[in-house]
Amino acid sequence: VQAPGESLLTVDLDALAANFAVVRAQAEGAETAPVLKADGYGLGVGPVGRRLWAEGARSFFVARLSEAEALRRELSDRPAAVYVLDGAGAGSAARFQAASLIPVLSAIEQADYWLKAAGSPAALHVDTGMNRLGVSFEEAQAIAASGQPIDLVVSHLSDAALPEHPHNPRQLARFQAARALFPAARASLAASAGAFLGPDYRFDMVRPGVSLFGGGPREKPDPRLKAVARLQSPILQVRRIQAGDQIGYGSMFTAARPMRVGVLGAGYADGVIRGVYGQASAWVGAARAPILTVSMDLIAIDLEDCPDAGVGDLAELLGPSALLDDLAAAARSVPHEILVRLGRRAERVYLGDDH
Ligand SMILES: *Cc1c(COP(=O)(O)O)cnc(C)c1O
Repeated sequence: VQAPGESLLTVDLDALAANFAVVRAQAEGAETAPVLKADGYGLGVGPVGRRLWAEGARSFFVARLSEAEALRRELSDRPAAVYVLDGAGAGSAARFQAASLIPVLSAIEQADYWLKAAGSPAALHVDTGMNRLGVSFEEAQAIAASGQPIDLVVSHLSDAALPEHPHNPRQLARFQAARALFPAARASLAASAGAFLGPDYRFDMVRPGVSLFGGGPREKPDPRLKAVARLQSPILQVRRIQAGDQIGYGSMFTAARPMRVGVLGAGYADGVIRGVYGQASAWVGAARAPILTVSMDLIAIDLEDCPDAGVGDLAELLGPSALLDDLAAAARSVPHEILVRLGRRAERVYLGDDH
């Protein structure tokens, strides 16, 4: 870290590769197709995509057409199937064809458009109960009857993080019926959480996103998965405050006792969700330092258990000690949101970027 206030975001691509291997082992015979929407969950679709390709990934999913074009550029001459979850909007066929991209058709209008404008095989998203994207079973029947070439049938689970949730078997049954309409197509139902639900949910392909980046399939830390993103920020000042003193804006924190407080050069502009104050901790070495306040550029932490910590030392806000799922729970969010908010202000370092 050169400048005094600069945070450091380390993206550990070796940990990413290890997580990919864990998910792939869960998937057994099914293909493991990484989901790299939102710039590879905020960690850089280029380095992340190339490393996963080096580990054997040959199919990828993104949300937007522009994300798919970016991934194709980043993969350069590495052959891979790149699927666009948004599907094909009117007038988009030329862009799909120019970059050899595959739409995941998710509405009957899209299917009609694609058949006329391109006619090449596409994926089809069938809704099984989530009510976001996807055609109904009846619409899927009509598409099947039309003879439109569909080589992958996709759906998405709403509650896979809860293995006992009744939505899982209900969506599974609906998906089995939908995929039977397209006997020649491959099938994919599971994202990260679904990949860990057992063999019934794997079909031909699983689509993990967050687990590749260390998010546990049950929305809590999973010891099999490693932290990929590590955000560390320097202690800019250490100050002593007295009982009754407050820190920062308003009354975010008022000391009940004399305290030693560290002020870090990071804030919500670096992706630390403001609401984690009072809920989450930073780590200084092996010691936990509770987060007292969060503002745009500065975070105050309690150094009670870190007697040796001083100005210039780095505190970990996210990483192998400050676990992604714990931070997400403290923010009343999901690990996906924490990752995509990490932003561009921190200096970025990639470990294992030589593939
Ligand atoms: C985002 C997404 C995924 C990946 O989800 P994770 O929970 O990150 O594994 C898979 N499939 C679809 C359709 C998605 O939108």
